[in-house]
Amino acid sequence: MPIHTLYPAERGNLRLSFEYFPPKNDEMETQLFQTVADLSAFDPAFVTMTYGAGGSTKARSLTAVRRMIHDEHIANTAAHLTCVGATRAEVDAIVAEFIDNGVHHFVALRGDPQGGIGARYEPFPDGYENAAALVAAIRAKGDFEISVSAYPEKHPESPDVDADIDMLKRKVDNGATRALTQFFFDNNDFERYLERVRRAGINIPVVPGIMPINNLASVSRFAGLCGAKVPEAIVTRLVHLDESPEERFKEATHIAAEQIVDLARRGLRDFHIYTMNRSPLVAAVCDLVGFERAVPAAAQSLSAGAAA
Ligand code: FAD
Repeated sequence: MPIHTLYPAERGNLRLSFEYFPPKNDEMETQLFQTVADLSAFDPAFVTMTYGAGGSTKARSLTAVRRMIHDEHIANTAAHLTCVGATRAEVDAIVAEFIDNGVHHFVALRGDPQGGIGARYEPFPDGYENAAALVAAIRAKGDFEISVSAYPEKHPESPDVDADIDMLKRKVDNGATRALTQFFFDNNDFERYLERVRRAGINIPVVPGIMPINNLASVSRFAGLCGAKVPEAIVTRLVHLDESPEERFKEATHIAAEQIVDLARRGLRDFHIYTMNRSPLVAAVCDLVGFERAVPAAAQSLSAGAAA
């Protein structure tokens, strides 16, 4: 039984979503929208655009979301939003602006402290105190999809997993319709977490976040900050391949595909992929797992060639 490819009969009803972040310059913008175009071939259920800490990329997020919806015609674009550095009135105004631009799906977050990850979080004066309060505010505005975060390995500020699950419950009680998890690499951690979430009476979809490893050093650093671990077995598979980009790419493709296949065999149907605004590795993972392309790769490059 292949461990990184699903049999056709196993692929029914699998859904993908992709996460992007707003570009900081023209070059990054070109890369983002090329990635969006490449990955659109997999017909994602939705895509999401992150929102910067401290509101620093508020304008960039809005611009990127606007282009996704109006120019790229990706109507199922979800806008992330945080409570950081803004009053309730300011956050409400941003929500209204997103809605005016066609957004009907929000990813509602508290956000990281303005002093950076690890600093103490203080709600902004007159701001929403946490993600649960933000969810309630968005829910009061209408019948939107509202996704929220979840942490299979516990949020670093959280005293324990139960506190995390209590917070998830508050977000659901206030109107969240889906949880997207922080990335993780050990499916047993996710399964244990999901069991506890269900035991707490939380019934919304909890979608595993998958991070294909483009760069082991930066993923390890980021994982450390987020309280996620990169298992030794994965480090061992990648660490000696720094000098062999092709081999490293192949191994990273296999690692993420194996994780998705294993989750699918445990009954998971939805997968949220952190793209880092790059398509080659994500596309290779999706191809290897067996996700069908609405537009086959060959036809895609032909039409790109014709358009050039
Ligand atoms: P919450 O769900 O409100 O809290 C997370 C956990 O932290 C809680 O479960 C709780 O146990 C604990 N906690 C919270 N506050 C306290 C407290 N005062 N004392 C003790 N424990 C506490 N960040 C961005 O800036 N922009 C983004 O677009 C973005 N997108 C994300 C998308 C996903 C899917 C995920 C998983 C994370 C994302 N983040 C983003 C990161 C997120 O903002 C941080 O993890 C942040 O620290 C917590 O925000 P939250 O909404 O998860 O918080």
